Amino acid sequence: DQQVHLVVKDMALQKASEHDIYAGPSSRYFPAGVYERIEEGADAPRFQINAQNCVHCKTCDIKDPNQNITWTAPEGGGGPNYPNM
Ligand code: SF4
Repeated sequence: DQQVHLVVKDMALQKASEHDIYAGPSSRYFPAGVYERIEEGADAPRFQINAQNCVHCKTCDIKDPNQNITWTAPEGGGGPNYPNM
């Protein structure tokens, strides 16, 4: 029932730019495997978000080459407290 806290604004842009031009850095931000490209099926590569693995570091929000990913604090305001951000 948790509200969505990782939003990709434009999935077509994520494929055309983040994947095709920048070689998909989202899958290499961290080892938890939140962003995956599934290389199966007719719609491959399919971009999959495993939000349950997120450790709330906000790297994807900052580093996405198109600013196309938005991270928000999960329900209840959990996650780390960065007082200087
Ligand atoms: S906030 Fe951090 S841990 Fe969560 S998906 Fe983005 S880069 Fe990964």
